Order: sequence, then C-alpha cells, then structure tokens
Amino acid sequence: SNFNELPMPWFGLDIGGTLTKLVYFEPTDHGEYMDTQEELLRGKTIRHYLVHNKAYGETGIRDEHLQLDEVIMNGRIGTLHFIRFPTDRMIPFIQLVKSKGFAQMSSTVCATGGGAIKYAREAELELAMQLHKADELESLISGIEFIAENYPDECYYYDNPLDDEKCRQVIWRWSSARCSSTDEQYQREGRNESGLQYPYVVCNIGSGVSVLVVRGHNEFERVSGSSIGGGFFQGLCSLLCNSQSFEDSIELATRGDNRNVDKLVGDIYGCGYESIGLPSDTVAASFGKISSPQDRENVRVEDLARSALVTTANNIGSIALNVAKQHGVERIVFVGNFLRVNPIAARHLANAMNFWSKGSKKALFLKHEGYFGAVGCLDKLVD
Ligand code: ADP
Repeated sequence: SNFNELPMPWFGLDIGGTLTKLVYFEPTDHGEYMDTQEELLRGKTIRHYLVHNKAYGETGIRDEHLQLDEVIMNGRIGTLHFIRFPTDRMIPFIQLVKSKGFAQMSSTVCATGGGAIKYAREAELELAMQLHKADELESLISGIEFIAENYPDECYYYDNPLDDEKCRQVIWRWSSARCSSTDEQYQREGRNESGLQYPYVVCNIGSGVSVLVVRGHNEFERVSGSSIGGGFFQGLCSLLCNSQSFEDSIELATRGDNRNVDKLVGDIYGCGYESIGLPSDTVAASFGKISSPQDRENVRVEDLARSALVTTANNIGSIALNVAKQHGVERIVFVGNFLRVNPIAARHLANAMNFWSKGSKKALFLKHEGYFGAVGCLDKLVD
C-alpha cells in the first residue's frame, strides 16, 4: 500500500503467548511532510501519553534503553519506541486504549502473534478499527533485518563466554554497508567484510521455541522447535522456587549453582569421559542429583532455578546446533524475551555453540531481543 495513505501514527503489535510487544513509530520530520492538522493533533496526544511515561497502567513498561532515534521507515524519519505488557492484560489494554480515546486516532495498527488472531474480534469491535494482520515468522525475520540494518550496534557475540573474568560482549557488524574498512574494532577482530549474511539460523526463544533457516530475503523455513522454552523455565521456577516473576527467577538463578542439582559426567565417572569427548563438568542428567530425600537436604531454591535455566538453555542450544549442522549454516542468531536480563542463558548458549561445534558455529545475540515481530509487522505494512 502507499504509505502516504496510511494515517499516522503507526503501531506494530505482537501479541505473544506471554508478553505483548508494542512498537510505536513517532515521526520527527513534520517540517517536510504535509501531515493533516488532524494527524498532527493525534500524534501529539498519543506521543504525550506514551513518551512522557515509562509505565502504563499496572503492568505496561517502556524499554527506554532500546529507543531508536532517526530511523527511516518507508521514507519517513522518526523514533521507534518499545513497550511491553503481559498478554493476560490484553482486555484491560483494549479498554485503556478506548478510554483514552486513542482508538479513532491511531488508525494504522499492525498486529501479529497468536493474539492477533485470538483478540482480533474483541479489539476490532470495541475500538471500531481494523487490525492489519501479518504472519508472525515473516514479521520476525523482517524485523530482525530492519533493525540490524538501521542500528549497527544491534548484534553482538561473547568472547570466553563461561569465563567470569575474561568474558566480554563484542559488537558484530551485521551489514558492511554501514561499516567502513577503517573501522578500528572491525579490523582488529579480523572480521570479513560481509558481516552477517545469508544463510543464518534464527532461534526464537519466547514462551516456546522456534528455529528457522533464513536463506535470503523473504526466503526462510521453520525447521524445528521445542516446547521447552521461556514458559517452561518460568513454570518450573514458580513451582520449585515459588518465584513470582521472571525477574525473580533470573535473580535466584544468578545466585545458584546447578551442580548441586544436576548429575555431571564427573559425578558418574569420577573424571571426564575423554574418549568420546565429554568433559567432567558436562551435565549428564539434568535434575539427576536430587532423587533421594538426603540429596535434597542441601539444595537451595537458587540451585533449582539455576538448574532450570541451564537445562532450558542447553536443550535449546542442542536443537539450534543440530539445525545449523544439518543445513550447513555457520551463524545462529538467538532472539526472544527469554534472553531478557538473562546473560547466563546467553553465555551458556554461546559456549555450547563454540564447544560442540569445535568453533565452527557462532552464536549471535540481538539487543532488541523480543521486539522483532512487532517491528517487522509494522515495517511490512508500510513497506
Ligand atoms: P511470546 O511471544 O511467546 O510471549 P517472548 O519472546 O515475549 O514470547 O518471551 C516470553 C518469555 O520471556 C517468557 O516465557 C519468559 O521466560 C521471558 N520473560 C522475560 N521478561 C519477562 C517478563 N517481564 N514477564 C514475563 N516473562 C518474561
């Protein structure tokens, strides 16, 4: 469609199994465009509410640190704002939008994720507007590519991921277009000119897990997945540790030690099983050390949370690596909100890719973690 006909402002909404992600494009190039008076007024009212607050209702949060300025979307220059709230607050959210009178004003709302189907009727009836629906995986990929092209610092990897002293995050330039050959860090690390290119694997860790192979622009396939993802981790932590929130679970896991819970190769062999390449600190049996009541006496909730985290990360790592091997792909991009405030999981994934591929596969991470679907459905509509 012709973007000039799409009323401002533009919203991208990804209604997931656990979290709803809302991306708001705030145009900043008014001088050059003939927005109607009505559009300018709409923009002002919504901007005032969204940009002057960091929290909305009881559970909505704006991730201010992710805000992107001077982004060009479909010929317009503006700022992208990133907001999230739990999907179980979707009905109150619709009521809030209605009560603030935003509905008539925000006429271009693109939606993706399962909730875009589930809540479509409610939203369209209540708000008397039409959602522009987009495919979830298509949106995910176009969101990743849009952000990575517009924000050169988006992508990073870990050096020495499991070494507490030497571990560091290193920026990985996705596209060489924005990276001159004199870029110092770029040269120092001896990376090739191309940055991240096709093909690459995307491993999206949300409530559940999807693994996709991307071979070219608009050319991708979902090849694997798992139900052992962010929802599994949080469910287990609620049950085992009485954790009240995801942040709570991560905080517990950070202070825990999974070796009190998991049975390691070394616990069974007394050493590594070197002939088949299993070091002694490899987990042989997740939760394998707590079957008897005596064993459980010394286990803390922190250790259980850590084990739930490591179990989830390692299982996902193994699936992602198998996909990369099977399809002959070197780079694996990990996204999804399971990785939010969760460097332990990312470092385990990075280490697993390094170790089990003998250095031939690379784990990459993206700063906008769970927001790509919401960006992608917006970009897709205005494309
Ligand atoms: P979905 O689209 O399925 O909701 P997300 O990519 O948004 O997937 O990730 C959801 C997962 O992110 C949750 O299962 C949980 O593990 C993790 N998570 C991170 N932050 C939060 C949060 N504030 N509230 C709930 N879950 C969170």
